[in-house]
Amino acid sequence: MSAPRTTTSTTTSTAAKLIETEERRALRRAVGDLGRRYGSAYYLDRARRGVPAEELWAEAGKSGYLGVNLPAEYGGGGGGITDLAIVLEELGAAGCPLLLLIVSPAICGTVIARFGTEPQKRQWLPGLADGTRRMAFGITEPDAGSNSHRISTVARRDGDDWLLSGRKVFVSGIDHTDAVLFVGRTEDARTGRLRPALFIVPRETPGFEYRPIPMELVAPEKQFQVFLDEVRLPADALVGDENAGLLQLFAGLNPERIMTAAFSLGLARQALDKAVGYARTRTVWDTPIGAHQGLAHPLARCAIEIELARLMTQKAGRLYDEGDDAAAGEAANMAKYAAGEAAARTVDQAVQTLGGNGLTQEYGLGALLAATRVGRVAPVSREMILNYVAQHTLGLPRSY
Ligand SMILES: Cc1cc2nc3c(=O)[nH]c(=O)nc-3n(C[C@H](O)[C@H](O)[C@H](O)COP(=O)(O)OP(=O)(O)OC[C@H]3O[C@@H](n4cnc5c(N)ncnc54)[C@H](O)[C@@H]3O)c2cc1C
Repeated sequence: MSAPRTTTSTTTSTAAKLIETEERRALRRAVGDLGRRYGSAYYLDRARRGVPAEELWAEAGKSGYLGVNLPAEYGGGGGGITDLAIVLEELGAAGCPLLLLIVSPAICGTVIARFGTEPQKRQWLPGLADGTRRMAFGITEPDAGSNSHRISTVARRDGDDWLLSGRKVFVSGIDHTDAVLFVGRTEDARTGRLRPALFIVPRETPGFEYRPIPMELVAPEKQFQVFLDEVRLPADALVGDENAGLLQLFAGLNPERIMTAAFSLGLARQALDKAVGYARTRTVWDTPIGAHQGLAHPLARCAIEIELARLMTQKAGRLYDEGDDAAAGEAANMAKYAAGEAAARTVDQAVQTLGGNGLTQEYGLGALLAATRVGRVAPVSREMILNYVAQHTLGLPRSY
């Protein structure tokens, strides 16, 4: 039995008025309006059929939202990661969390904009900005996992070309992208040590194979395992400087954490909105179920946790956009952790609030149970963030 749904304004942030410019608040409203025109029914329909949310992606691209963080001279909006995080959070809150925003404009767009050559920027950025081109990102390997220092995908020189070989797992959305930005390693000619290096690999390059990993996620983006077998790449497939691989990599990983926080925040707000709307009207005794403190207090706690995580995400975005990569690293990790935890707890409580309806397809909350786990695991797990904070913030020794 279903009760009528109402929208709630619980997620309208007073803090946002204090710390966000009018321009950013206008961006929130405009993206929210776009997201609500599609809504979770549209998104879940595409996700269940395994097809991309193409119409929404195209409209968001045309409106300038997908490339809001990219430089204006290459077709972007000239804003920062803070702006792109707003886009993802608002789309997610409206029921349409576009995971590919984390990889295509945020990681790949940022890395190319900051470290790419002029021809790479001209070739990729305008398309990434308006959404007509997409790029996936592959760092995770089956035998390295959380320990990305252990990755073994290697690029070796062959004349002017590179030959790239290795394996990757959980690369999101390859089938809907034009290319993948892979993290591999090159050998230092002097020391023989391996250093990280980033390569753009077009999807149809011979020797590059990808197979979907069957997942229990309801999302339009599939996850893939990748086999790279002596993939021949021209010299200009390398992004930026061969000697600055780690710096370049971290330039992309902080935006990834901030965007994953925004992804989780969007899911959390969507779930809280549905739960509060339901709790206001569903009545099985004499008052709506939302009057019972057994439901009201956990929902109130979720609202507080979401707001705190949102503030941390705004802080991380601001530090990153101001160019403080080191401080942004700590803040981005904390934001990703806080938002991931808030989302997992909020969705759990939302499902509980709806009783049996929490698991019906009509309300679309059951699908969020698995989706919120992504924010706890990727791109860096909850435990690895706690390790980071223990070591870097608290100065504690490491166990591994
Ligand atoms: C939906 C989804 C999309 C993804 N998209 C991408 C993508 O586009 N590109 C990409 O490259 N990757 C992607 N990933 C991969 C993701 O980044 C990894 O799953 C993540 O980094 C964890 O690696 P792992 O799965 O190998 O876990 P493991 O490293 O095997 O970890 C397993 C468990 O052990 C814990 N653990 C490991 N080491 C420690 C330690 N030192 N201390 C305490 N606990 C520890 C972890 O926290 C975790 O709980 C995606 C994953 C998912 C689920």
